[in-house]
Amino acid sequence: MVTEFNGKQQLLRPEALIDLAAARHNLNCAKSAAPSSKVIAVIKSNAYGHGMLRIAKALEAADTFGLARMEEAVSLRQAGIEKRLLVLEGFFGRDELEAASHYQIELAVNSPEQLSLLERSQLRQRVGCWLKVDTGMHRLGFPPNAAPRAHMRLSSCASVRPPIRLMTHLASADDLQDAATDQQIQRFLPLIGQLGGEISIANSAALLGWPQTHYDWVRPGIMLYGASPLLGGRGERHELKPVMTLSSRLIAVNRCASGDAVGYGGSWRCPEAMPVGVVSIGYGDGYPRHAPTGTPLLVNGRRVPMVGRVSMDMVTVDLRSQPEAKVGDPVILWGRGMPAEEIAEAAGTIAYELFCGVTQRVRFSEEDLG
Ligand SMILES: *Cc1c(COP(=O)(O)O)cnc(C)c1O
Repeated sequence: MVTEFNGKQQLLRPEALIDLAAARHNLNCAKSAAPSSKVIAVIKSNAYGHGMLRIAKALEAADTFGLARMEEAVSLRQAGIEKRLLVLEGFFGRDELEAASHYQIELAVNSPEQLSLLERSQLRQRVGCWLKVDTGMHRLGFPPNAAPRAHMRLSSCASVRPPIRLMTHLASADDLQDAATDQQIQRFLPLIGQLGGEISIANSAALLGWPQTHYDWVRPGIMLYGASPLLGGRGERHELKPVMTLSSRLIAVNRCASGDAVGYGGSWRCPEAMPVGVVSIGYGDGYPRHAPTGTPLLVNGRRVPMVGRVSMDMVTVDLRSQPEAKVGDPVILWGRGMPAEEIAEAAGTIAYELFCGVTQRVRFSEEDLG
């Protein structure tokens, strides 16, 4: 834990403000884009770095919460969350299966190992199951030709509470031109016809870009946090609002001379005499070290380019457009007014990774305006 200081020091370090009203707004966007589907709001990996419990409480209107691992689901139950929960990777070992039964957590059944553990178990309460089919991503799930038999075994398993639901996951839905999505859908359709029951295919990208995948349950994740799931996309084009705003402050303004080298390696030199600002944020806080010179950020609400290398605790910025900027002035790294997608593209990654990568050192707070 970082010691709390009173007074000014406290203001000059990074903060992540979580806008819970924006999260609810984004859930409503998901619902209006897929009006006939129920929603599994995906809040795995600490709600993509936003704080799992606070997001679970804010997204009361979701039908189910989606988690990756059993321990995430158990911690939600232990914190008093009573909503339906689905663990997308299912369970590993008998202890996790018993926890799923005890806490009434639904499971994706992905593998022969999980299937035979279920068959050998004697649970006090049955568990709800989703049969996961691998339609082409080759990550988790039964191949389509093995799915009917797995479905039959699940249906006759005493530990499983009927009905069995079917799900698959799309590998390339973020690219609206990619033929792989149609191929995955084509492999899944015969099973939908043959096995019936409730169906779930769509992540955020499919929810927004492939309406033919909506079916009974959609599984939005990233869009709930306000970022676009589509390649080159921006959340605001879908009327999504950023949930996390990562901010900090200027902690120094240096009057540099023409030719002065800035930061580690001296990789960037001032082309003229100019003010260079130092912002209290770095890769130790989760700001991506690969963000190159030119990556934008907001100083006093106006865009300026980052210059030089990202340090562990600081970044440096070109303040020629704001020579009046001073120590203490506010800086936004991403969030309101600065799309995380744009920073991610500059740094060669995706908004998912930026959100998940914000570290313990950053102080989180939340806001809930309506
Ligand atoms: C993470 C995940 C999702 C949510 O994906 P987004 O791209 O964040 O919408 C949906 N389904 C499964 C199986 C996942 O693992």
